Amino acid sequence: MLYHIYVLIRLNDRMMNLGQIIDVKGIVEKRKEALKLKIDKLNDRNIVPKLAVILASFDEASKIYVGKKKRLCEEFKILQEEYIYDENVTEDELLNLIDKLNNDDTVDGILIQLPLFKHLDEKKILNYIKPTKDVDGFHPVNLGNLVAGSKGIVSCTPKGIITILEDIGEDIKGKNAVVIGRSVIVGKSIAHLLLNKDATVTICHSKTKNLEYYTKNADILVVAVGIPKFIKSDIIKEGSVVIDVGINRVDGKVVGDVDTEDVLEKVKYVTSVPGGVGITTVLSLIENVADVASLR
Ligand code: NAD
Repeated sequence: MLYHIYVLIRLNDRMMNLGQIIDVKGIVEKRKEALKLKIDKLNDRNIVPKLAVILASFDEASKIYVGKKKRLCEEFKILQEEYIYDENVTEDELLNLIDKLNNDDTVDGILIQLPLFKHLDEKKILNYIKPTKDVDGFHPVNLGNLVAGSKGIVSCTPKGIITILEDIGEDIKGKNAVVIGRSVIVGKSIAHLLLNKDATVTICHSKTKNLEYYTKNADILVVAVGIPKFIKSDIIKEGSVVIDVGINRVDGKVVGDVDTEDVLEKVKYVTSVPGGVGITTVLSLIENVADVASLR
């Protein structure tokens, strides 16, 4: 009997001390309301934002992402033009199309869904998009603005992460932020955004020695690695905020780079997968399209 009471007290203690899974769906709903107002104002000025999407691969995940973007465009009454190619497409064909879209004043944003067919030079094609229409924020001009801390189009996943941190009231200034992963589209970009917000930032990657030395000191830990449940509670700091960017498919299920259940008793906040960073990414894209359209 005494033992059972002891176990119940311990369980209660653990539940009291649990961190919180961030309600990203709630955050997205709030952002959707603000976005609707912005688009209504554009419509009042007779502006209907338009996004051009180019798909040149047979990648299944890409088709799913394009479908999600399409549904969100419909929800926000954003016009969408889709250009879908098979493996016979040439680089010149794509460059000609981008040229046409760059010069079409009714097109606000151009999105090239990656990866492209292997024979196409991704960098060359992405860099051909006019920086002011690069709603993915991958163009060197937009990346340069990010590094310089100047205004530009910010890539969607990092932008979504900052919105999450701001919404939960996390003061980024002066915090130790550790980013695991150094890809341009996630790791490097979020590291610069955090730096621009006065965090002390460390980027870790596959060649980092003694990773836990950094993660154990991280007030904010952003994980973009692509390894299922890579981060467990033993290498994170008590009371930290952990942002899980990973999207991994394991036995037909989507899991993140963080073992959410395991870290929950140690963190202050953690994002879940699914239902976390991913749902802010698509919304950030629509926000970028609306922002570009508002400059017409
Ligand atoms: P990437 O493969 O380009 O980069 C992975 C990074 O992880 C590399 O920089 C590598 O150095 C690092 N890494 C690999 N093994 C490591 C290790 N053992 N220790 C430390 N670092 C290690 O991937 P990416 O495009 O940045 O994506 C990362 C993850 O985020 C993937 O799961 C991807 O699906 C996901 N993702 C999610 C969203 C979203 O909207 N939620 C957007 C983009 C990517």
